[in-house]
Amino acid sequence: MTASASSLTENRLSEAVSVFTYGGETLATSYGANAVAFFGEGAIVLVDPFVSHVQAAELDALLRARTAAPVTHVVLTHHHTDHALGAGYFAAKGAEVVAHELAAARMAKEHPGLIAERRRIPEVAHLFEAARPYVPSRIVFGTFLLEAGGLRLDVFHPGHAHTPGDLCVYAASLGILVSGDLVSTNYHPNLEDADVAGWRAALEALRGIPFRTLVPGHGPAGGREAVEDQLRYLDRTRNIVSETPKSAGEDEVLSALARAFPEFRLRIVLPALVDRIRGT
Ligand SMILES: [Zn+2]
Repeated sequence: MTASASSLTENRLSEAVSVFTYGGETLATSYGANAVAFFGEGAIVLVDPFVSHVQAAELDALLRARTAAPVTHVVLTHHHTDHALGAGYFAAKGAEVVAHELAAARMAKEHPGLIAERRRIPEVAHLFEAARPYVPSRIVFGTFLLEAGGLRLDVFHPGHAHTPGDLCVYAASLGILVSGDLVSTNYHPNLEDADVAGWRAALEALRGIPFRTLVPGHGPAGGREAVEDQLRYLDRTRNIVSETPKSAGEDEVLSALARAFPEFRLRIVLPALVDRIRGT
């Protein structure tokens, strides 16, 4: 397996916004996470620039082919490395990195160990050679209006949903909401740091935002139905887990979940989902 197992693709939502992804579902493809670029006048704002320096540099090369404008800001929707670790590359080039206070705390606590661990895995070590833990330079506590190159982006904390330090980004003038992993489309979400009740409340609150396009943390961009689909996913997985007796064993509940969502990627996160729903 190499980093080129899947290549970086761009989906232009408009002249001002592109979504980049490697697809796939492995560490070498950043688990299929989306990176989002907002193009302003003389400035680019990036959201979630992948899991590694190598992938962030590949993304930067695509941006450089299009414009000389620098990446002035990087917003991290949460601390999970598939969204956050590539920010070190842009921080070293002078970008301001924006994160919620609780995401910043988890980054400081977890990232050094994860980088060291991944350097010991031969298949992916090359992705993490240049990785350095770093401290976000702009800490968000509730909301933050990010203005750069004529862009106006509302960065807000939806409460503890997917992780304690979630942030969403809303571009009102473009009708685009970047949800981070509050929404995953055709991918199972990782619930290891989730508050499921808080997640449900946060999704219901997103209904009050008049966005037209939603960019999920993983999977293709969609419309307003993406929020409803995620709520249904949380209901359905809860029902499957609660209807499967604990005595049945983990394999049975995991295969029931896989059967219910046959086309979904990232089955690797399903054990954490079962633990979180069962409260264990
Ligand atoms: Zn995540």
